[in-house]
Amino acid sequence: MLCVVYQGDPPMTPPLTALPTLNAQETETKHVHIETFGCQMNKSDSEKMLGLLAQKGYAWTDTPEQADLILINSCSIRENAVNRLIGHLGRFKPLKRKNPDLIIGVGGCVPQHEKEALLKRVPHLDLVFGTQTYHKLPELLDEFHQNQRPIVSIVRQVDEYPEEIPVIREGKHHAWITVQHGCSAFCTFCIVPYTRGQQQSRKPEAIAEEIRQVAAEGYTEITLLGQNINTYGWDLDPGTSLGQLLHLIHDIEGIRRIRFLTSHPINMRDDLIDAMAELPKVCEFLHLPLQAGDNELLKRMRRNHTVEFYAELVDKIRAKIPHIVLTSDFIVGFPGETEEQFMGTVESVRRFAFDSANTASYSPRPKTPAARFEEQLSEEEKSRRLNVLNQVVREVALQQNRRHLGEIQEVMVESHDAERNNLKGRTRGNKIVHFEGMPRLVGQLVDVKIFDVTPNTLRGRMVVS
Ligand code: SF4
Repeated sequence: MLCVVYQGDPPMTPPLTALPTLNAQETETKHVHIETFGCQMNKSDSEKMLGLLAQKGYAWTDTPEQADLILINSCSIRENAVNRLIGHLGRFKPLKRKNPDLIIGVGGCVPQHEKEALLKRVPHLDLVFGTQTYHKLPELLDEFHQNQRPIVSIVRQVDEYPEEIPVIREGKHHAWITVQHGCSAFCTFCIVPYTRGQQQSRKPEAIAEEIRQVAAEGYTEITLLGQNINTYGWDLDPGTSLGQLLHLIHDIEGIRRIRFLTSHPINMRDDLIDAMAELPKVCEFLHLPLQAGDNELLKRMRRNHTVEFYAELVDKIRAKIPHIVLTSDFIVGFPGETEEQFMGTVESVRRFAFDSANTASYSPRPKTPAARFEEQLSEEEKSRRLNVLNQVVREVALQQNRRHLGEIQEVMVESHDAERNNLKGRTRGNKIVHFEGMPRLVGQLVDVKIFDVTPNTLRGRMVVS
């Protein structure tokens, strides 16, 4: 669930090593450069685009100047998404002048609502495709080569997502696994149901097969992805649930850790909490967006629960999973938000002791009901409230991290910084840990004793048994 109002991650840069070595002569190899903005779902889609293009003979380049094909996988969550995208695309205009054969395309969420209008505003654009048609990239490229005319391929909702899409993953040890497409919750501030369509769950067996495949390739950690993942399987016939899916995939050999994103509180059923508590590979990490600490705001956001409901849910979860790391998303400056309501949100960060939170000031998104609400707040006020909230989020995150001082944490090592001889890894609770160590430990699970913390990271020393 894009309950997260993402600030727009930096463009994804898949490592060159992750790409297939092509047999074609170097001079004949075509190169693709993809830049990805937004959430994990977009990152996962870009990994699939790369897989499809590799089959067509494209190799990755991280330099746009060397590319024959440049793709931007766009995000609509931030304010002024269209203007930002158009500004970004302007950077590639000189490249097109130098190389008229260069193909430039835009995919992802922005084309879902802008469609042909993008071609009018960016004349050097060749391909416009959306969240429902990226799997057709190879055909779109063929069509473009044949007709040499710009192509717009937007579908509001596909009947069924294709299962057999090759993937070239950015990570070597952690894999994103999409279990559900779209969202049918229609929170009043959120554009996701309009850009990614209604919820469609993948069949459990297809998901299990993909996980067996990544395990066979050496991946040990997976994150299941869905916009509103707690309703996974409710739309299938026969219906199933995320709790049942966790049981189904739990014993797949080679997988050591399982996480999932993103949970809507109203759909967090007991069988899911029980599965988290019972299944050892399911990590003690839950991203459970509250969005606002005031019942009237929650109602106008159409979140369908109250702060009291959330409190009971958190009590239940903490009783069953005492070491759970709990994170949230918050929107400040929602239309009509009073100072008192805003302080309710600030207070909720302390009350629920979140380990971290994504925060954003409200920005009206096209087509969403909240964009038409009266009493929109000024940018200055939203920014003031955001600063106040961020400070409290940092304070509480630091307090939460201090609880780990002296603890020994199991850490999955993700990368090595040669200059500082520093390893970076993640705890089961998804906290980042830095410690000294050798590069050969990347991809391993090691024990680390924590001796220092900041609001965002832990620092420790490896425990050698
Ligand atoms: S509509 Fe609501 S539940 Fe669905 S992605 Fe948006 S915020 Fe999450």
